[in-house]
Amino acid sequence: MIFFLYTILALFTFMFFLMLFLPLSFLSVAIMTLINAPVQLFYLLTHPEVRKNHALEHATIHVLEELVPVKLSGVSNPNGFIIQGVSDPYLVLQATHEAKRRLLSGEKDLAVHPQCGTTSVVTALVFAILFIVFSIFFGLFSFVNLLLSLVLGAILGNVLSPWVQRYITTDWRVHDVEIENAELIIRGWSVHGVFVHTRKGDVKWSIR
Ligand SMILES: [Zn+2]
Repeated sequence: MIFFLYTILALFTFMFFLMLFLPLSFLSVAIMTLINAPVQLFYLLTHPEVRKNHALEHATIHVLEELVPVKLSGVSNPNGFIIQGVSDPYLVLQATHEAKRRLLSGEKDLAVHPQCGTTSVVTALVFAILFIVFSIFFGLFSFVNLLLSLVLGAILGNVLSPWVQRYITTDWRVHDVEIENAELIIRGWSVHGVFVHTRKGDVKWSIR
């Protein structure tokens, strides 16, 4: 009987701390996101070379996914991008040239990818804004606040991501991106991915 009472007491204490600390930890995550996410988005907005490599990375993944039935991922930087999930540099290089050709011939949607990291940044940002706004209306320790912020954050994050990708984190106008080569990256004993080196070309062009 005593053991049973102790178990109930321990369970209630655990629930009490969970209800106290869960909203507080979500609040600290929300505040950090309100600072970090806009900084990340602003970095991309002000670095056109990364946005163009990011567009080329997405388009290359689309082209490769039409050829190979595996899920691929990628990361872009000012010098190019890495594609993870393939190990053939020649295939990736051909796909990159094809991706550039298709982007410039009007297939701008190739610059947007459903599995892009932009989605998690936007989802986290929407959650952070809603969690803080709802905290004012429903109270910080309200379950409704937490549930609504999580659900709406996930829905709106996915809805807004393509728009944010199109106008902030990618730029399909890759006329002046020169594709140099593709290099197999080995880390330890396994293939890390294929890095496509790009550089800014001298092509002069105007925006339509
Ligand atoms: Zn992406």
